[in-house]
Amino acid sequence: MQYKRVLLKLSGEQLAGEFDAGIDPKLAGWLAEEIKTVIKGGCQVIIMVGGGNFVRGAQIAGHGIKRVTGDHMGMLGTMINALALTDIFEDHGVPTRCLSSIFAEQVAEPFVHRLANKHLEKGRVVIVAGGTGRPYVTTDTAAVNIALELDCDVVLKATKVDGVYDKDPAKHADATKFESLHFQQAVEDGAIKVMDKAAMGLAMEQNMPIVVFDAMQPGNILKLTSGKNVGTRIS
Ligand code: UDP
Repeated sequence: MQYKRVLLKLSGEQLAGEFDAGIDPKLAGWLAEEIKTVIKGGCQVIIMVGGGNFVRGAQIAGHGIKRVTGDHMGMLGTMINALALTDIFEDHGVPTRCLSSIFAEQVAEPFVHRLANKHLEKGRVVIVAGGTGRPYVTTDTAAVNIALELDCDVVLKATKVDGVYDKDPAKHADATKFESLHFQQAVEDGAIKVMDKAAMGLAMEQNMPIVVFDAMQPGNILKLTSGKNVGTRIS
């Protein structure tokens, strides 16, 4: 099936590329070119960016920093990524708008349902900063939530590996990849850590399919949006 509207979830770690933290602008530029082909193919794209290359609330909390503050810091990290990606995408000729789920009028437009739809209908990429805007969740949950809000066909969850395996393929040579998975298994199997369980639970409850795949393989995003089988489909 050719998809009309998709949400691509990118983690901060992926945006850092070869670096330990921050953003790899070359990689972001490469991604812009990949997304350009998808937009030309007639598919609308929303990108949810993570912030793990800067801060994760659950990790930084402690030594006086409250969890809520840590999460606020994490959301600001996603904002840094979203701003950088927006500029780099536009520099590559991909019309893009950054919409923020946290109040940040000086730096980005607010995430407003109708505004997001308007940008998408005009063929612009919408990059969401700030996740859901609330603490105690991650951008995985935000990805499913916003994919539902914007009536996406699928959540494309980019990972380092090319799908979901029964065990970590980096550690086990005999790990086998699932071509597809039922939500129930993805939620209940503790060994499947590809996405937050909260995000997976929401996707299951609302029947929002998720494809776990390697976005850094040339052509993979376009293959997926034009209906080809890539990665592992959870539905
Ligand atoms: N975060 C949050 N609410 C959200 C999205 C993100 O509080 O709706 C915070 C949370 O602390 C999270 C951090 O921002 O750990 C960075 O996001 P995430 O961990 O999802 O980034 P990724 O691992 O995808 O790079």
